[in-house]
Amino acid sequence: MILPPERLSRFARHIILPEVGGAGQLALAQAHVVLVGCGGIGSPALQYLAAAGIGRFTLIDDDVVEDSNLQRQTIFSTADLGKSKAQAAADWVKRFDPALSVTVHQARITAENAATLIGQPTLVLDGCDNFATRLAVSDACVALGTALTSAAVGRFQGQIANFAGHLPGQPCYRCYVGDAFDAQDCDTCAADGVLGAFVGMVGTFAAMHAIRIVMAQAGASFDGTGLGDPQWGKLMLLDGLAPALRPISLVKDPACKGCSG
Ligand SMILES: [Zn+2]
Repeated sequence: MILPPERLSRFARHIILPEVGGAGQLALAQAHVVLVGCGGIGSPALQYLAAAGIGRFTLIDDDVVEDSNLQRQTIFSTADLGKSKAQAAADWVKRFDPALSVTVHQARITAENAATLIGQPTLVLDGCDNFATRLAVSDACVALGTALTSAAVGRFQGQIANFAGHLPGQPCYRCYVGDAFDAQDCDTCAADGVLGAFVGMVGTFAAMHAIRIVMAQAGASFDGTGLGDPQWGKLMLLDGLAPALRPISLVKDPACKGCSG
């Protein structure tokens, strides 16, 4: 399969990059990304992934657009207030690039419905706002054998990592946070506040991490340039105030109920 001429032109700045090339752009076009959460992280992630030519999206969010979202959730405008975030995000994608395919689930992910809603994508990008959903998504990804890009923000700290807990020796998100958060929500964006531009950094970082997974699955090593390395299990701690980036290698928990035993 090759990209048609109008797509070659649209993605010319990608294709000329040796780290992407025609093969990498084709892999992006053939990729299916499930986005969990179309909020502060999901919005910029979706913008850059759609711009990158990811061919198919599934958007999952049960929330509606509120005025307090507009300070950071960049795909929404005043005209979207009260609309389903997932549907408004899909509408944005169709306006931006009608060639991309979008499926909408206006639903909240639970342990029971996660696998069904996620399906069999290339990867899941989780930018949701609570631990219960994150753990349900992680467990489903392990069970489905699907890669997971996880991104979160707490005030001025961002955390981004790629997980492949279904692979031997690779940790999952649950290996990292444990089981303590299953029942309760701990993220308190509403109470703590959050700076829009910083959430945007984390969202675009997550988009970059998702692109790494697509490049890796396309078999791109590209002579050690690094874009084909998904960096499984390496947590990127982003300090938005310094600013500074600290990578931490996570290890698989042999007692993890998500990915072990
Ligand atoms: Zn695990």
